[in-house]
Amino acid sequence: SKKRGRNNYQFYNNEEKDILDRKFILEQGLTRALLNNEFLLYYQPKVDLETNTIYGAEALIRWDHPEYGLISPFEFIPIAEEAGYIIPIGKWVIESACKQAALWQKQGISLNIAVNVSAKQFQDKRFVKIVEDTLNNYQLAPGLLELEITESVMQDVEESYSMLQQLKSIGVKTSIDDFGTGYSSLNILNSVSIDYVKIDKSFIDDMLTNSSTASLVKTIIQIGSNLNFELIAEGIEQESQTNFLIQHGCHLGQGYLYSPPLPLEEMDKVIQKQQER
Ligand code: C2E
Ligand code: CA
Ligand code: CA
Ligand code: CA
Repeated sequence: SKKRGRNNYQFYNNEEKDILDRKFILEQGLTRALLNNEFLLYYQPKVDLETNTIYGAEALIRWDHPEYGLISPFEFIPIAEEAGYIIPIGKWVIESACKQAALWQKQGISLNIAVNVSAKQFQDKRFVKIVEDTLNNYQLAPGLLELEITESVMQDVEESYSMLQQLKSIGVKTSIDDFGTGYSSLNILNSVSIDYVKIDKSFIDDMLTNSSTASLVKTIIQIGSNLNFELIAEGIEQESQTNFLIQHGCHLGQGYLYSPPLPLEEMDKVIQKQQER
């Protein structure tokens, strides 16, 4: 609603202005957020659905903003991408997640740690080197790191193959995140060795009430067993969903039914409890 008065500019109504102010403030704040240690990682347990054991965790970034408090990645990741800060932020995420996983590793706790990778990171020529250096730095077993990459990031198929091959060669695991929501080329599943495919929450939400969604879920699980990748169901909220998934051969998942993303101290407690079991 850009209205131009005779002597005054009435650019936006207040609500739009607030949103723009906030976006502007966030963008400005991103420059100092890394230096000021304002980012933190939450960890959402990844669970073996049949045994109910935690085999891993997805690291999910939060921004503890001095003025606004905890901010969701849904809000600031797009701003960071647009403003060109996602590479250093992504590097911080990989560092912090690997550091934590290495700490667990030292305590004899072998947890797979999954990190989200944005398009700009995945397309960055230095990405493999960053991952490799970080693993070396913290002496983390490469197989414990899983990189979650969305389908939309893999639009350039040739480049993606090459990147996935390089990641494979250093021994990290790769997964396709939010599977089913992007312009999926089933080719990407076929031609490279992807370790995991994460079935998007929207499918999990619908599969018990929509028979064509149920068919899609069953089919992708079938493809997984033929092409040797494992399925991870995301956003499981009901036991009936777990039952359906197990029945059709999907054995891994995460969601509020098991646990929301947790701050480190709480994640540690959950792990301790499991150790004592
Ligand atoms: P995502 O990778 O698809 O992560 C799953 C999101 O769903 C997380 O939101 C998680 O908290 C939420 N979730 C998990 N289980 C359930 C459930 O049972 N029900 C519901 N309603 N939600 C559930 P979160 O933590 O707010 O992250 C949002 C998105 O931000 C992520 O979606 C991911 O795309 C992005 N993101 C998070 N951390 C990072 C990061 O370190 N780097 C990048 N590039 N992106 C990140
Ligand atoms: Ca993810
Ligand atoms: Ca996801
Ligand atoms: Ca999703």
